[in-house]
Amino acid sequence: MNEREVIIKLDDVYYRYPRAEEYVIKGLDLKIYKGEFVAIMGENGAGKTTLCQLLSGIIPQSQGGKMLGNVTVCGLDTQDHELAILTQKIGIVLEDPETQLFTTSVLNEVAFGAENIEMDPDLILETAKWALDVVTLNGYEKRHPTMLSGGQKQRVAIASAIMMRPEVLVLDEPTSQLDPIGTVEVFETVRRLKDEYNMTIVTATHQSEAIARFADRVIVLHQGAILADGTPAEVFSNKEVVAKAFLTVPQVSGLFIALQDCGVNLGKFPILLEDGIEMLQKAAVKGEQTHE
Ligand code: ADP
Repeated sequence: MNEREVIIKLDDVYYRYPRAEEYVIKGLDLKIYKGEFVAIMGENGAGKTTLCQLLSGIIPQSQGGKMLGNVTVCGLDTQDHELAILTQKIGIVLEDPETQLFTTSVLNEVAFGAENIEMDPDLILETAKWALDVVTLNGYEKRHPTMLSGGQKQRVAIASAIMMRPEVLVLDEPTSQLDPIGTVEVFETVRRLKDEYNMTIVTATHQSEAIARFADRVIVLHQGAILADGTPAEVFSNKEVVAKAFLTVPQVSGLFIALQDCGVNLGKFPILLEDGIEMLQKAAVKGEQTHE
């Protein structure tokens, strides 16, 4: 079997903000592999945003503060390479789409970052069209960004972030301001980047339903350290982790946890609604047969 390629590596990373006394990231050791879709979960203040900024190099380069240990992305140590170099490898999408919109048309918006680093104009246009195609916003080039829905605005932000064709896309709670439709649009877009372009996705999020459907792996942060690291099913079925990190689990998982608590154990632990329905149907048929 081929060794999986490590694309992000954290070695004993500690970080404290300027003028703060306490480290908010405490001894993180982590490997993320090429093409993985990783969700970062944890309660508010757990360190999710700080971790996203450490991965993109914004910490410590723009934020300052005190960092110990090393973060390596695509073989580049984030402390040794300028942000302009790092953004070619790792794109970042922030929580609030409004704060990421600067221009008067979708096309200009997507091209904006690339113009700032003096990309060839023909290449900018070609790449912007590709990026808008990836986020399924072709035809929207001339629209004013403020006229878009929340989900569309975040997809414009994703298109801007992938203009450099980065290998890694980091998203910091990208759907927290969106309605359920916008949330699914964003997760489907990001999943497509993984499936079609083998992009590595790291997203901080509380959206357990979307994680259950789209993510390969969940890393749970608690007080700046890793509390759990596993598949969505492993993490959501771990009652201690769920309670300690105040995680919301998918509704269907919550139902099965409640059933277990009443002594009804149906074997497997579903995280997707359709799997839960199938298990309940089977259990119902079995129940009918035993009563015949
Ligand atoms: P999360 O994204 O999980 O809510 P954050 O990474 O935003 O967590 O915050 C982790 C900790 O760092 C919190 O205790 C928060 O108060 C602190 N923190 C975040 N930003 C700053 C800052 N700019 N200066 C000082 N402390 C900060």
